[in-house]
Amino acid sequence: MEDLTARSGQTSNSYEGAAFIEDGSRKAGTLHVFEGSVEFKPNDGENSIRLPVQQLEITAGGNQNRLIYFKSPSRAGISFYTTDRNILKESALQKPELLPAIKKIVGGHRRVKTGYWTLAAVSVALIVGAWLGRGWVFEAAIDQIPPEAEVKLGELVEKNLMSTMSVVKDPVVNEGIKTITRPLLEVAESPFPFKFQVVYHQDVNAFAIPGGSIFIHSALIEKADSAEEVAGVLAHEMAHVIHRHGTQLLVRRIGLYVLVGAMFGDTQGLIAALADQGGFLLSQKFSRDFERQADETGFKLLVDANIDPRGMLSFFRRIKEIQEEQMSETEQSAMAIMGTHPATEERIDFIQEKINELPPDREFQKIPLDIQKIQRRISLPE
Ligand SMILES: [Zn+2]
Repeated sequence: MEDLTARSGQTSNSYEGAAFIEDGSRKAGTLHVFEGSVEFKPNDGENSIRLPVQQLEITAGGNQNRLIYFKSPSRAGISFYTTDRNILKESALQKPELLPAIKKIVGGHRRVKTGYWTLAAVSVALIVGAWLGRGWVFEAAIDQIPPEAEVKLGELVEKNLMSTMSVVKDPVVNEGIKTITRPLLEVAESPFPFKFQVVYHQDVNAFAIPGGSIFIHSALIEKADSAEEVAGVLAHEMAHVIHRHGTQLLVRRIGLYVLVGAMFGDTQGLIAALADQGGFLLSQKFSRDFERQADETGFKLLVDANIDPRGMLSFFRRIKEIQEEQMSETEQSAMAIMGTHPATEERIDFIQEKINELPPDREFQKIPLDIQKIQRRISLPE
């Protein structure tokens, strides 16, 4: 077969692509357009295949219509494709019978682009709106983020955090956490899959990242008096996830535009932003409204799961004592203790009120876990 690419007076740009041939197999190669034919040259050195321009069918397909297909009734079972749209500008394809198909593809692509820009414009409007203090605009925007995208986002955040944390891998500890969280998971209505990990850290704290991953500092377990106390904190963290508080914080911090980009597959901006602001979720305080909402939902989770919510209360009280103790020493270290979840008098009063509202004869199931058993394992050297 003669090599058309070398034919004198007939030069063509080369477009990377592939072809499906009669036996259904796919070959990678390059596409070339000549006066009268479109040629596919396989990379494996086999003979080129040509489709006549006359009766050529040009269509868009694949993901977001990014693939341009060439077919011909004269060669049934064969199709070429490329993602390089410049091929449509080849002069040999500017034939009256082909132009309607080309226009349809180019026009369609423009519409997709317009859609993207509309979304970008909406994002900018949302950022400006939120900047002006319209919190509800943010919430409306967050509602538009599909849970799967948030899970993906969480994976990125987690990957970024992991390099700075040391996860407790002791099976006794992890089994203990499962015993505590199992009843909560049974009653929690969440589009996010929860995942709990204990990490070595001397600050009494726990935190959730978008998408359902919750981290428990080893010091929190060490300071707890019962499994119910740990459950109280974890129910609160689960509530942060359910209400997507972490995502809202992220959006405020790094901008909806970057997040929207990430959802459209452009994760570079997000990765850069996360790398730049490493660990900010650890230091970021949620607003009082978010804390109130997490306490309220967390309390409900505990009661629904038949776990005594007084654990939540006693733990917050202890944290407050520690805070006050430390406050007299240095203000600095006080900040570290439950820094993201200050155990304020207001929160303690709120939970106390909720407990008072429970029927006086309400009984709860004791979590079948001796907290000291996992405390001993945590205090073992790594
Ligand atoms: Zn909180």
